Amino acid sequence: MDDPKSSHQRLLILDDDPMTGQTIMSIAEFAGIDARFTPSPTEFFQLVDQWNPTHIAIDLIMPEMDGVQVMTQLAQHQCTAQIIITSGVGTRVLEAAGRSAAEHGLNIAGVLAKPFTPASLRRLLADAGPPVGRRNKAAPPVAAQEAELSAATLHAAITSGAISAYYQPKIDCITGTLAGFEVLARWTDPVLGPIPPTRFIPLAESVGLIDELTLQILHEVLPWFVPLAHSYVTQPLALPLHLAINISARTLSNTALFERLRAECQAMQIDPEQLTFELTETSAMEDPTASLDLLTRLRMHGFHLSIDDFGTGFSSMLQLVRLPFSEIKVDRSFVMTAMTSQESRTVIKFIVDLGHSLGLRCTAEGVEDLATLAYLQQINCDLAQGFAIARPMPGAEALHWVQDYLVK
Ligand code: C2E
Ligand code: CA
Ligand code: CA
Repeated sequence: MDDPKSSHQRLLILDDDPMTGQTIMSIAEFAGIDARFTPSPTEFFQLVDQWNPTHIAIDLIMPEMDGVQVMTQLAQHQCTAQIIITSGVGTRVLEAAGRSAAEHGLNIAGVLAKPFTPASLRRLLADAGPPVGRRNKAAPPVAAQEAELSAATLHAAITSGAISAYYQPKIDCITGTLAGFEVLARWTDPVLGPIPPTRFIPLAESVGLIDELTLQILHEVLPWFVPLAHSYVTQPLALPLHLAINISARTLSNTALFERLRAECQAMQIDPEQLTFELTETSAMEDPTASLDLLTRLRMHGFHLSIDDFGTGFSSMLQLVRLPFSEIKVDRSFVMTAMTSQESRTVIKFIVDLGHSLGLRCTAEGVEDLATLAYLQQINCDLAQGFAIARPMPGAEALHWVQDYLVK
C-alpha cells in the first residue's frame, strides 16, 4: 500500500458507473496522481480513513447513497480533501450541491458536469493546490486569524473610537435624487490592518459587545446627521433625507437602548421617520415574539424598519408578512449579477413586485454599474445603493459628496 503520509496527491473516486470511475482514474494516473476507484460507499469510507486521499471525486446520483449524503458524512469525518463533484445532472443542481458542501465546511475544488474532458478534470486537480491532511492535523489558517481578534481588542477598539462610521448614499432610482445614507462600521487596527465588519460584527455579537458597538456608532452618526436631517427645510423640493443603521437581532431585546435613542432624537430634533433600522432576515427570526413586540413599538414611534439581504434566508416570506417592515432590501448577490444572470433579474423583479404589493419601499444594494441601475428603473425599484453611485465614505467625505451631488 502507498504510504498515506507521503505528500503525493491521492485521488479517491466514488461512482456507481465503473466506466466513468475507470476513466477518471486513468486521466488522474496519466497526470501523475495516484488514483483509486470504488462503486461502494462502504469501501469508499474505509479508504477515506485508511488511505487518506488528498482529493475526492464524488458522483452526485448513486443508487445506494446520494452524493449529498456522502458529503454530509465526509463533513462529520472532518475530511479536508479537495472535493470534486461529478454528475450528469444539470449545472444548477451541481452548483447547489457545491454550495451545500461548502456550507458543511468541506473544501470544494469544483464541479464537473458529465461528459467532461480530461483537460477540465486535470485543471481541477491542479487548481486544488497542495495536498492537505486531515482537519485535526492542520488547523485552517482562518482559525489562526480569528484567534488574533480577541474580545479585549474589540472592546478597546469600541471605547477608543477606532471603530467608526462610514456612509454610503442611497438614491431614488427614477429621479436620481439623494434619498439618504446607510451607516457601515469600519475598523482599521494599527497592527492587524483593516478588519471587515463581517468579522468583527459576529464577534461583537458572540461576546456580548454588540450593543456597546451600536451605541458608539449611534453617538457618532446622530450629530453627523443633524444638519442633513434638517436640510430639506432649506431646499423645499427635496424630501427629508433618511439614515439607515444596521441593527443586530440581539440588540432587539435591549429596550433601554431604543428608549435612549428616542430621547436623543428628540433632543436633536431628528424625526424618527428619518431613521431606518436594517435587520437581516435570519437575525430577525431568533426570538420571534420579542422581536415582534419591539419592532411593532419602534414602528409605532415612527422609526422605519428594513428587512436586509432579502432573498438569502429561508424564512423570508414568513418574517416579511409577520413583522412590521417598511422597506425591503434586495440582497446584493442578486443585484451584482443582474447583468449576467437572467435568474438574478427574475429574483430582483419578483422581490420588488412582492415588496410593492405589501406596500413596502424597495432598495437594491450592490449596484455596480449603470446598466443595472437602468434595469432597476425599468422594473420600478424605488432606491439604489452601490459602488456605481458611491462607495461607503468617512463622514467628512460624505458631506462633500452631498455638496457635489446636489450641484450636478
Ligand atoms: P449589509 O448591511 O448588507 O451592508 C451592505 C454591504 O455591501 C456593505 O459591506 C457595503 O460596503 C457593501 N456594498 C455596498 N455597495 C456595494 C457594491 O456595489 N458592490 C459590492 N460588492 N459591495 C457593496 P460591509 O460594509 O463590508 O458590511 C458587511 C456587513 O456587516 C453589512 O452588510 C452588515 O450586515 C454588517 N454591518 C456593517 N456595519 C454594521 C453595524 O454597524 N452594525 C451591525 N449590526 N452590522 C453591521
Ligand atoms: Ca444593511
Ligand atoms: Ca444587505
